[in-house]
Amino acid sequence: MNVELYRKYNVAGPRYTSYPTVPYWDLSPTADEWVNSLKGALDKAQIDNTGAAIYVHIPFCESLCTYCGCNTRITRNHGVSGPYIQTILKEFSLYREKLGMVGKKLKLSELHFGGGTPTFFTPAELTQILGGLMEHCELHPDYEFSIEVDPRVTSFEHLEVLKKFNFRRISLGIQDFDPKVQDIVHRVQSVEQVRKITDDARSLGFTSVNYDLIYGLPLQTINSVEQTIAHVITLKPDRIAFYGYAHVPWIKASQRRFTEADLPSGDEKRALYERGRELLEAAGYIEIGMDHFALKTDSLTTATHNKTLHRNFMGYTSRSVSPILALGVSAIGDAWTSFAQNEKLLETYTSLVNENKIPIMRGHLLNEEDLILRQHILNLMTKMKTDWSNPQDQTPILDHVVEKLSEMQKDGLVKLTATSCEVTEEGRAFLRNVCMAFDARLIRKAPETKLFSQTV
Ligand code: SF4
Repeated sequence: MNVELYRKYNVAGPRYTSYPTVPYWDLSPTADEWVNSLKGALDKAQIDNTGAAIYVHIPFCESLCTYCGCNTRITRNHGVSGPYIQTILKEFSLYREKLGMVGKKLKLSELHFGGGTPTFFTPAELTQILGGLMEHCELHPDYEFSIEVDPRVTSFEHLEVLKKFNFRRISLGIQDFDPKVQDIVHRVQSVEQVRKITDDARSLGFTSVNYDLIYGLPLQTINSVEQTIAHVITLKPDRIAFYGYAHVPWIKASQRRFTEADLPSGDEKRALYERGRELLEAAGYIEIGMDHFALKTDSLTTATHNKTLHRNFMGYTSRSVSPILALGVSAIGDAWTSFAQNEKLLETYTSLVNENKIPIMRGHLLNEEDLILRQHILNLMTKMKTDWSNPQDQTPILDHVVEKLSEMQKDGLVKLTATSCEVTEEGRAFLRNVCMAFDARLIRKAPETKLFSQTV
């Protein structure tokens, strides 16, 4: 990586797991509008025979990893699980009632359990929640069920239950194997623990194992990243998400456990990613979109070639499934024409469901411009190019894209025509900057936002 270019384009920008991005949502749907959007998307899914997706958020974790940016509830009291499962099942029942699906089965293409720590639930509790959900669903022939698991609390029995309920993908939070880094971020787990879950999952027939790694953590060095990746390569996960650490101590107080002095600087942080990438590519992994790697045999790689790669709040997926019905505290649903997020406070979420209310707290109804730009930004994040030569793909803000990206074109990061933009391989590291040129809401609200630093 050209260090000068990295310095020049090292500006803060969204990760674009949605467009508009959450801080720019300004037209929340009412509960009825949200249900109507879901209905529309379900009707379309039925015509296209694509099935729907369900995301379930389980917020509980037994201990706090100090880098964490997720919506969590830290507790060792497992008495919270039973009532939470009842609330999730009740929320699902409220949706089925409002969607006119009582007595009918929802055709399910994707089910994802995220958190928090979904395996905070015991195997018996997982059986209860999955049994309660699947009783009202039928499997789409092309289903994919996935779950995030914490190697420290996941047992063979958990995996057996998941296998029985057709889960074939697991994602393990690894972050870094270096003991000093693990200690300062308060997440101590051994290579052996990770190896065991990986081997157990494979022996049970799971077909895809993902590892989440983070670069930019406190006390990380090139050497610690090399050691971590060396272990990862021997365990050979099918996919790897290699995320940059986001340091926001003013939002996440737990990040104050370490100081900025413990963190790698901007250049050092990028060097950690570059070294990780180099080692992963040498081991046969292919870089997918932004911050993701996959083996040639993994469906993310196939989806990249087949141009079906998709991106949503969970990161990259091998195809687009809509709608995503989100259950649980703080969970975000997506009906393509609108988003809705559940209440973030567990007690408020629970009370609303118990009052038979759809527990959304905010969301966004996409207007015509949003829908056009959403597709362009998705194209860039998944295909590294987009084109607006057809009148239906145009909206006035696009008239300014070429001018906004001219500096990036000069630096060889994008190739532009009057109605198209293609990100070059060198530009991949700056995908966010490219997408920012298409982000009308960001440009209007913060016109001073620059795609590159003026100081270099
Ligand atoms: S286990 Fe995961 S969700 Fe829970 S605190 Fe750690 S990083 Fe956050």
